[in-house]
Amino acid sequence: MTEEGKKYENFSEWYNEVIEKADLTDKRYPVKGMNIWTPYGWKLMSLIDAETRRLIDENDHQEVKFPLLIPEDEFQKEADHIKGFGDEVYWVSHAGSTELDIPLLLRPTSETAMYPIFDLWVRSHADLPLKIYQMVNVFRYETKQTRAFMRMREIHFFEAHTCHATEEEAEKQIHDDLEIMDELAKKLCMPYLKLRRTEWDKFPGAHYTVGGDALLPTGRLLQIAGIHQYLNNFAEAYDITYEDIDGEHKYVHQTTYGMSERLIGAVVAIHGDDRGVVLPPALAPVQVRVIPILYGDDPALMEYCRSIVQRAKELGLRVDIDDRPDMRPGSKFFESEEKGVPIRVDVGSHELEDQEITLVRRDTGEKITVPLDELEEEITSLMDTMEREMYARAERSLEENIVDAEDISDITEEKVYRIGWCGTLRCGEGIEESTERNLLGTLYHGEEYSGKCIWCDEETDTAAYLCKTH
Ligand code: ZN
Repeated sequence: MTEEGKKYENFSEWYNEVIEKADLTDKRYPVKGMNIWTPYGWKLMSLIDAETRRLIDENDHQEVKFPLLIPEDEFQKEADHIKGFGDEVYWVSHAGSTELDIPLLLRPTSETAMYPIFDLWVRSHADLPLKIYQMVNVFRYETKQTRAFMRMREIHFFEAHTCHATEEEAEKQIHDDLEIMDELAKKLCMPYLKLRRTEWDKFPGAHYTVGGDALLPTGRLLQIAGIHQYLNNFAEAYDITYEDIDGEHKYVHQTTYGMSERLIGAVVAIHGDDRGVVLPPALAPVQVRVIPILYGDDPALMEYCRSIVQRAKELGLRVDIDDRPDMRPGSKFFESEEKGVPIRVDVGSHELEDQEITLVRRDTGEKITVPLDELEEEITSLMDTMEREMYARAERSLEENIVDAEDISDITEEKVYRIGWCGTLRCGEGIEESTERNLLGTLYHGEEYSGKCIWCDEETDTAAYLCKTH
């Protein structure tokens, strides 16, 4: 990417600094890859979870909580799944000094915890569809360098699991999941690519995987969602069958949809600037912060500020007032920016005198002074505008950073390359190895393309996306 600012010059350093200054996480816990959720960070995660819950509940899912520990014998029923997760698993082998008969593992994801029980829950077609989800922590022993929210060993995780009578119904669920993801992405101001992964990069045990990938300022993609069509793969391994109307026993068709705290990492990376994080208006823990600009005591001004807070609260917004007496207004502005509060309301003696308020946008720094009477409509419309414009800016950046390449030697920059690919593993491997990038798949909804495979020169109507990943 060619933009300026520290986040483009030294992303890692910038990222660590802004999350620290915003107090989104505490990295001092003495286990690598396991951070502490601070009150501010957890509030943000909880608000994202609440929005996810609202959307998935509307899609007739029900929330559950399965145990954290999974017995080894259940984990080992689906061969590809073991291959995919085996090396990342944390094992519990002892209770005190006694060795356990069957070792237990900390869930890296919950297929193998849930599916033996689905076998008991699903008896007939009347039990279908079964649509459940949970929001829990999962454990994966990452060997790559860990990074707050993006690559952790203990991960806050959302996972939805569904069982359907037919493949068509399972396909419909995948469409629904992508619509839910779109809705959530709007609230997060985060455009993303929906890529159907290559055969060698799909979720272990899946028939196919759709990855949701967001573009970070490094020019690399970060997977923020995974939606998986399992067909009967797990149903056969776990013997999840139902009796249909004719009394015949059939395997269910399954899907899953997963997301994690990476959503926070992506939002910080995409929208933050050199002054700090910039949080999306709909999901920020504090949406509006009122800052009295006073020098010494001013009861009338404080009263005016409190009435503004009250009115914003009545709008249903999360609003606070920074009335710390011994702090200069400049330092309060600075802190509000570091924490990414979307709208600041500056109130000084001028505002009080003219019965006005000054609204300051966190994303652009733009200031507008409006009559107090119009507080409700001005704040509401400013939040909408910010959400729309933050999304549009990120979308423009995503579009500008996708470039077509027709020759392997052109692939040198930190960009997302669109290339012709014949679809074979042989060419896929050649492309990945020679460019040191990942072939992330093809657009899930398809696209018109005609060109040549960048590796073997065969004519192809398939475009694939090639990029480095986080
Ligand atoms: Zn080829």
